[in-house]
Amino acid sequence: MRAMTARRSIPLLAMLGLMTAGCEPQPMGWADGRALASLDMSPFSLLPAVTVAPMPTAVGAGFDRPEGLSASEGQSFSVGTASRGYLVGGTPLRRDHEALKVRPVSIQRRAIHGTHDVIEALERAATAVSRRWPGSQLYAGDISAKEGGDIRHHASHNSGRDADLTFYLRGPNGAIADGPDMEVLDRDGRTPGGLVFDDARNWELVAAFLQNPNVQVQWFFVARHLRARMLTYAKRTGADPRLIARASATMRQPGDSSPHADHFHLRFYCQLEERLRGCVDTGVRHGWIDTFAAEIEVEISRIVALLRSGGDEEKRYVIKRIGQLALSSGARHLEPLIEDPDPTIRIMAIDTIAFLRGVRTPPAWAHLTDEDVGE
Ligand SMILES: [Zn+2]
Repeated sequence: MRAMTARRSIPLLAMLGLMTAGCEPQPMGWADGRALASLDMSPFSLLPAVTVAPMPTAVGAGFDRPEGLSASEGQSFSVGTASRGYLVGGTPLRRDHEALKVRPVSIQRRAIHGTHDVIEALERAATAVSRRWPGSQLYAGDISAKEGGDIRHHASHNSGRDADLTFYLRGPNGAIADGPDMEVLDRDGRTPGGLVFDDARNWELVAAFLQNPNVQVQWFFVARHLRARMLTYAKRTGADPRLIARASATMRQPGDSSPHADHFHLRFYCQLEERLRGCVDTGVRHGWIDTFAAEIEVEISRIVALLRSGGDEEKRYVIKRIGQLALSSGARHLEPLIEDPDPTIRIMAIDTIAFLRGVRTPPAWAHLTDEDVGE
């Protein structure tokens, strides 16, 4: 995020937490049965959108150029949502990292790519734990395919922002017993073979992610009884109450997939540059996260300038992009289009405004407000 942000010279005003309430579209009922085209999450429709800054000369021609897909050297982007997205310029997990190992099955599945920032965060967290408890080994499971998209065994893991991780375990004698297996831990935090969930190291791992300023965690999907163990440990050892509150909000047993008693599933929010290129967060925005509202406002004002041309292509483009950027304040820019002579533009504008203001979600966009899939 740092390098990308610097390249665009966008000041990180939103570090001040300028956006909170009211900016998150909520799932709502579908009131009036009009059809609406799906928000297209393909990289062909989304990525070239960055060329809108400052303004594309030929909008129609600029949209679907596949060369817009390539990320420049060293950059990687999550595009779309975690369950319908893509990955551009994905970074593979290293095979020779001391603290972060890779599960062989994930290598076989070719599911070891993430965004650069996500891979770096995994390495950093594993390193933090192994510095404090030498010999610790965290095993990364599936992340995403090299170019993202659907992978077997998972509903999400599409866009380089999901990562499965093993738990840190100890043997009956108390010795570190980390390994690549993902065995279900029972109510007492034990594997069938008698290994025990290590409260201290697993808590430290969660804390390391939450304290990393370069990434923002949306979820640690993990079984309720393991979550409780970590929170109890954190309180008992005097961890920062703010950190405990964030861990408490981000660790969750998902209701719509396996209870995650055999591994962590992490979901990271889109980074700023990714949001601007079509990365879409779904579900909860925790109160403390930076939603990049200030930077996105700047982008919206650039996009809106296209309306001056009066062309229908430009209007459709502006509506779509503002919908993708998913900032409620973007809705006001679309109000003039409610009275557009073209009925399809009117409908697009009305639906997008309703979506951005949390009034209702068109069925074709339902995946944008789905509760979070943890698998
Ligand atoms: Zn997972």
